[in-house]
Amino acid sequence: MHKVTESADKNEKQMFKYQTDLLLSMTIIRDFDRKCAACGKTSPQPALMSTNTWGYPDLDLRPAPMQRDTMSTWLDECPYCGYVASNIEIEIELPKDFLKSDEYLTCEGNEFKSDLSKRFYRNYLISKANGDHESEFQSLLYCAWTCDDAEDELAVKVRKLALKSMDNTDAESADEKRNLSLMRIDLLRRSLQFERVIEEFKDFKDDDEVFYSIIRFQLKLAVNEDSGCYTVEDVVKEFNLDSE
Ligand SMILES: [Zn+2]
Repeated sequence: MHKVTESADKNEKQMFKYQTDLLLSMTIIRDFDRKCAACGKTSPQPALMSTNTWGYPDLDLRPAPMQRDTMSTWLDECPYCGYVASNIEIEIELPKDFLKSDEYLTCEGNEFKSDLSKRFYRNYLISKANGDHESEFQSLLYCAWTCDDAEDELAVKVRKLALKSMDNTDAESADEKRNLSLMRIDLLRRSLQFERVIEEFKDFKDDDEVFYSIIRFQLKLAVNEDSGCYTVEDVVKEFNLDSE
């Protein structure tokens, strides 16, 4: 009898631990009112209260779920004037009537499948008008991810634009340089530029085992003309990197 009670007690504790773990790992999003710097009107904007990442990132360093599912909170969007920014309370200088221009409203004529893609593309246009190259590149990369999620074929075009904009960004450290190379090779392959992948990376060498393995993995995919999405876990398995 005593044993049964003990076991029930243990189960209860385990259940409690499970529930706590679940709560701690949940993505929590709340709305907060923000006053738009462009039009002065106030609207609720989603803010991320907590999240967690489980699993390996994609080969272009896109985070694994759950963090990747928080993209709807990465940018504010004013429902009144259409201004997009990481915080719409912060004013930036834009050409007159930029937010009302056809270029901005139609995303330069790109008919994206998802509203989230439009939001990141508009942030790219604002960053470009404002001369912020880093934000320009990041907005395009994120826009490509949302295109992938929506199965939008514009992902290829957006990745090509991201590659162009990458030429204007500089790596400040060895790690940053590696990250840019990882993004570059994935952008090239996933925009179907297999020959360029091989041409640019065939003689590539690096002391970092994981990094070098990812490049080799990408080269193999390029030879097979495979433009699919893969994760770092695929590389770890391919090269037995976790068997220490
Ligand atoms: Zn506004």
